[in-house]
Amino acid sequence: MPRASTQLVPYGQGRVRGLGPTELGVHGDQMDRLVALGLPTVPGITIPVQSARDLTDPAVARQVVDLMEELVGRRIGEGDSPMLLRLVPSAPVAASGLPPQVPGIGLTPTNAKSLIDLIGREGDLYETWASVLKLVAEDALDVPPDALEDALEGVTTPEGQVEALLGICAAQGSGPVPEDPAEQLALCAAALLARWRSPRGRRARRSQKLPGDLGLALHVQAVHIGPWERSGIGTAASRDPETGALAPTGTFHRGVRRSALPTTGSGEPLSALPGGTDLLKHTLATLEHHLRDVAQVTFELRDGKLSLLSASALERPSPRAALRLAVDLATAGTIDRQAALRSVRPQVVQELLHAQLRLTGDEQLLAQGLAASPGAARGLVVLSSQRALELAAGGVPTVLVSSETTPGDVPALLAADAVVTTSGGLASHAAVVARGSGTPAVCGASELRIDLVRGTVSAGSRTVREGDTVTVDGRSGAVYLGEVDIRPAEPPAELDTLLAWADDVRVLRVRTNADTVRETAAALRLGAEGIGLCRTEHQFLGDRLPVVRRYLLAQDETAHQEALEALTDAQCEDFQALLRAVGDLPVTVRLLDAPLHEFLPHDGMYEDDSQQRRAVEMREVNPMLGLRGVRLALLNDDLYPAQTQALLSAWVMVSKEGISPQLEIMIPLVSLPEELAVAIAQVHHAADKVEEQTGVRVPYLVGSMVETPRAALMADRLAEHADFLSFGTNDLTQMTYGFSRDDVEARLLTGYIERGLLSASPFVEFDPDGVGALVAIAVQKARSVKPGIKLGVCGEHGGDATSILRLAPLGLDYVSCSPQRVPIARLAAAHAVLEESL
Ligand code: PEP
Ligand code: MG
Repeated sequence: MPRASTQLVPYGQGRVRGLGPTELGVHGDQMDRLVALGLPTVPGITIPVQSARDLTDPAVARQVVDLMEELVGRRIGEGDSPMLLRLVPSAPVAASGLPPQVPGIGLTPTNAKSLIDLIGREGDLYETWASVLKLVAEDALDVPPDALEDALEGVTTPEGQVEALLGICAAQGSGPVPEDPAEQLALCAAALLARWRSPRGRRARRSQKLPGDLGLALHVQAVHIGPWERSGIGTAASRDPETGALAPTGTFHRGVRRSALPTTGSGEPLSALPGGTDLLKHTLATLEHHLRDVAQVTFELRDGKLSLLSASALERPSPRAALRLAVDLATAGTIDRQAALRSVRPQVVQELLHAQLRLTGDEQLLAQGLAASPGAARGLVVLSSQRALELAAGGVPTVLVSSETTPGDVPALLAADAVVTTSGGLASHAAVVARGSGTPAVCGASELRIDLVRGTVSAGSRTVREGDTVTVDGRSGAVYLGEVDIRPAEPPAELDTLLAWADDVRVLRVRTNADTVRETAAALRLGAEGIGLCRTEHQFLGDRLPVVRRYLLAQDETAHQEALEALTDAQCEDFQALLRAVGDLPVTVRLLDAPLHEFLPHDGMYEDDSQQRRAVEMREVNPMLGLRGVRLALLNDDLYPAQTQALLSAWVMVSKEGISPQLEIMIPLVSLPEELAVAIAQVHHAADKVEEQTGVRVPYLVGSMVETPRAALMADRLAEHADFLSFGTNDLTQMTYGFSRDDVEARLLTGYIERGLLSASPFVEFDPDGVGALVAIAVQKARSVKPGIKLGVCGEHGGDATSILRLAPLGLDYVSCSPQRVPIARLAAAHAVLEESL
């Protein structure tokens, strides 16, 4: 007799009855949700954990069979549209080692032939049947294993196996295999539960730290029988996992059972799905909105009817897919814009904006350095700037490999497709220039040995010659031998939408560090709100380098004056172009900060003996702490006035074209308020002169960089003179830790990170404790004397998402970063606001 306490729960009715995975098992719970969403699922009935044992009772099994036939409107094994049953086990928690699913319940010697006629193939049906009979023989009818083995000995066809198994069960089992589907179901349930409760099953659970007596829910599903061409198994995702395009993507295996899914072979595209993909498309779209994730499903088609077998969120969708999903969900109103913004990590933006390697795992690594400028490129190894320029002029892709770069190498750096240096860190010259120009770069690849005489580069036993091809991954810092496939950057249109939403949320303004028209234009296209740092020394690169060298090394007053004039003319020309590019936006022009080791000529580059003598005299042991920034301007008191005059004159000229850039003149490497006062006086004096000459009083602000600990601690005194302060966190980090920014990253910091002393390079991720404390003090002190003073950050940290989250709470007005990082900064600044509001 059926028991009153036995629960039979058709898929979709569990939650209403207050049941969850504990009772329904993981699978039953999932099916329940899918039905609740109105999605096509295989018709099924769950016998919950607490009742599963009851299914071994043929009377209960009869109830299930009757209910199923009523639900589906088909009869088991009979009529023109027959069905069979499948028994599926599931545990209350995800567990491996579940007993197998049992398909083909209801097959009998009487109905097999007519079902085969309907399917159109016989092999599959007999294979399925044989697997059911074997399970029943072993675990429900207690056929002795030896007898089973003997019976199957030498039987090769599935049909023969069925015959042998039916025979051995009748002869040696505790009874024959019944024809009645309910009795078959009860036996199969007994077999599955016996396997689950066997000592082996218990051991398997304990090894997964699950209780040995964990329960098992059983699910009975209807399998529609029809022509094999209209049946099969498939998998699909709601979007192309790579591009994120919204359309079912996956494969379909026609005429294949779930238990026989081929491990090789690609199946057919979904476009070949009998009956089309409309239902699948709608199903996946609904699932996406429900899961708020890219959805993936396995489904079966039985007699042309599509049913989901499982559904889940796709693990690790590509950045493009994640971004397009977030924007689509927010546009449809499923999530709000803030949730969309939160769901996209700023680092993802970087991946979308740069070319990426398609790694297969077979690549041969030549060397590993610091990921200095993102993107990927391959080209011929060149060991000199000259060679890089020659080849690039002929359109040949090149990778410039050098121990380090100096301003003289900039034209080659810009012409090369990628740059690799063996020394220097993330704030080194090569890294800064490469990031500015969007060139992939790996710096500090210290295992590389460059032999300029032989024209080779080697690391360990691997050697490449000048002219060999290498591939550079600026995102990971890897340099590979030969050609690696590269996927070009193709940021999807949804990126602009998301960034526009970020702009509505963020408080921090985002500017760019740009020295040229090209960089400025690129940054503005990416959403920069002006220039936060134009390093004027970067305008004296390549052909212009001799101009600044002659100024630094002038022997007498005539040479000095000539050099100054040339410098002023060059600047006026460059500034006009830059101001036109920036338009009416703010532009912070930093007066010269030329570390001598980067600008003085080296052996073989001197113009004459006297220049060589002077260069040797001026050489410093610690150039980053030497005659740099404002210090040089105080020793050469015509330098900053000349630059100011060039800038303001350029402004006067472009203003005639109707362009009014908001000028901000910035003094670098200040430690003493007195240095700042003198430099500002020089600027004002030059402005007076321009007014005298042109009749125009050019509007400008003047401010100071805060790059030394002393400047940070005396920010109130600096603020008395300055209209704005900008934190140069590259130097501030260098000087706070006493870590040389050019030297420590490749070896020292890697070792520190390996030992757990640091979690990341402080040149990459802003140090919230030490450097952060100095910035906080400076902000507080500066605002104590000038509450409205404009405060920004123009060190590399201004484009790093983690750093921006740490900088934002300090109360700054803007960050400024290299052009390619502007979108990252826009999104990170929005995240900073969203995080605060949590
Ligand atoms: C800095 O020190 O953070 C800065 C922006 O200046 P530079 O990198 O040119 O020294
Ligand atoms: Mg600096």
